Formats: sequence, structure tokens, C-alpha cells
Amino acid sequence: MTNTASAEISLSALRHNLSIARQSAPNSQCMAVIKADAYGHGILNVASTLEQADAFAVARLEEASALRQAGITKRIVILEGVQTSEELDDVCAHKLDIVIHHDTQLKVLLDTALNEPVSVWIKLDTGMHRLGFQTEQFSDVVQSLQSCHWVKQPLHVMTHFACADDINDAYTEQQITTFKQATNDFSLPTSMANSAATLSKQESHADWIRPGIMLYGSCPFINGNANDLQLKPVMTLRSKLIAINNFQMGDHIGYGATYTCDKDKPVGVVAIGYGDGYPRHATTGTPVWVNGKRCALLGRVSMDMISVDLSPCPEVKVGEDVELWGENISVDEVARYAGTIAYELLCGVTQRVTKIYKD
Ligand SMILES: *Cc1c(COP(=O)(O)O)cnc(C)c1O
Repeated sequence: MTNTASAEISLSALRHNLSIARQSAPNSQCMAVIKADAYGHGILNVASTLEQADAFAVARLEEASALRQAGITKRIVILEGVQTSEELDDVCAHKLDIVIHHDTQLKVLLDTALNEPVSVWIKLDTGMHRLGFQTEQFSDVVQSLQSCHWVKQPLHVMTHFACADDINDAYTEQQITTFKQATNDFSLPTSMANSAATLSKQESHADWIRPGIMLYGSCPFINGNANDLQLKPVMTLRSKLIAINNFQMGDHIGYGATYTCDKDKPVGVVAIGYGDGYPRHATTGTPVWVNGKRCALLGRVSMDMISVDLSPCPEVKVGEDVELWGENISVDEVARYAGTIAYELLCGVTQRVTKIYKD
């Protein structure tokens, strides 16, 4: 049996995109961000492929433990850190790095004697106002961590940008300045840049960059284009045409009868829907690649199916492969049609879609 919906993952494109990140910041070490199942691409396959990364970053302990259990020995940073002593024991046993962003975490760490020193990344809030110590707290935090026997030295310091996806937003420069002012006197290794800053803000590169989305071939800038940045799409989402019907001008298509045919046309039904992670909010006109042509989504996305205007390719037959995003249709473009970002589409591909890894 061949699977109807599949996500082909190009491991060579993944390696290529990592090399673009490295070239953009040649003097920095590179922490490849592989949280959320490597943005939906399969964390174990992605981790085994990205040998050239200096470290991996995940959001949570369970993601890091799964990597260790699968035999991944590379340095792994847990971006949200941990909350309890039991979790700290696991961190220690698995030789993981933790982020400390809050007093509660600091207290637990100072109160939990560990057998082996743990590597710590202090997170500073420089304007994102999500996680992180305020810069005024920084020197106290450094002091308590430097005098803790089970904390490995040197400490690392990091921050995260709120608006780096908009190259023209001065907020990023403000955050860089705030961060540098707070950390300058300490000569500790530092990290600021996500993908967008890696590609656009040299002064943010510091000792470690933390690229995520660009590794998967999506453009980190609003309204940007991955091709222009030499990034290659990693995931190609495909399914098949399971019906073709001819409808007449005035006929309505799909739930809610929201689309009305403006002329007679062949309408294909593709076996992909929000049950596969195709976004339900994709609007009429969202591009779908059929037999070398861009066709338009018509009407509402169903759980298992979408309808597509086949006027550009009247020759196609039932059974034909269709690309929803990937090599020919950028996931960023589909995301724009759906009023969201590529991150969400990539992370949202469901279990029903078979992943196929190539090269
Ligand atoms: C997710 C994440 C990144 C990567 O961001 P991208 O926009 O995907 O490059 C970097 N740093 C932190 C703290 C993150 O949570």
C-alpha cells in the first residue's frame, strides 16, 4: 500500500541550510534549534543529520532525554530549563545544559546538590518580556551561580529577540544594546541570535547563534523569500487527487458553499485536510502544485480533503501527485494565505502523514 499523504524530508537541504547559518556567522558556534520534534521534521532524524552543529537546543527536558536515549551525545541546551530537583537529577544524569531564567529555578538549583557540575545559560530579559531575569538582577545571579559548586564555569548568558523578523524594527538594536551593556563587564560567553538575527544582524552573532526556522528552509523575515536567502525547503508535503468533477458557473464548492464557480471548471479533490495539518484557514486562491502548474484552492478546507481548481491542467487524472508545500510552493506563501507563519504549519503536520527521509 502506498501512503496517500506524505512529507518528504530532504536531509541534504537540512545540511545545506545549516551551512548557510554557519557561513552567516563564521566566528560563532552554532546551536541548532530542534524543539517541537525539529519543527515537525522528526527530531531524531534531524539530530543525526546535523552533525555539523556545535550543540542542539530543545524547549523541554523530555525532548532532551529522548535524544540522549536515542544515543545522541552532542551538547543539548534546554531552553525553558527545569523546575524541580528530580528534573535536575535527570539533567545531571543525561549531561544536559539548562537555561535559568527565573528566581524559582535558581533557588531549586542552589538547593539541589548535584554529583556533577551542570552547564548553565542565564537568560536575560532585554525586551521580549517572556522569560528571563531583568538586567538589574544579572550580577546577583552571576554571583550566586559562580559560588555554587555544582555549576560548571564559565556561565553562559543569552537573550531572545521579540521583533527580529522585521529587519527595519529598531527594537532589535535596542535589545542588543541592553544586552551588551548588561554583560560587557563579565566576559562570559553570550548568545542572542535566532534565525532572523543570524541572517540580518551581525552585531548579534556573539559567541553562539541559535538558528531554528531557517534550518528547515523557511524565511525568517515577514514577507521575505527563502530562495533569496539561498535556503532550500526541507519538507515537501504531498498527497493525491482522488476525484475530478466538472462544475458549472454558479455551482458552490465545499462546506458552507463559500466558493461559487465563476465559470465552468474541472475541480479536483485532494486527499489532504486539517486532519493532516493542512491549515483550515487557508483561503480560496492558496496555491497548490499539480502537474507542474500552480492551481488554486477553492472553498473551505475539510478534515481530509481540499478542492482545487484544475483549469490550469485539464489533462491531469485521478491518482496524480499534488504538492501542498515544499519544492515548488513555499511553505511561507501557504502560511500567508492561511494568516499564520510557517513555524505553525511545519509543527502541525499530524501523525497520519508518513515522513519519508531522503539523502
Ligand atoms: C525557538 C527559539 C530559537 C529559534 O528561533 P527561530 O526563529 O526558529 O530561528 C532561538 N532561541 C530561542 C530561545 C527559541 O525559543
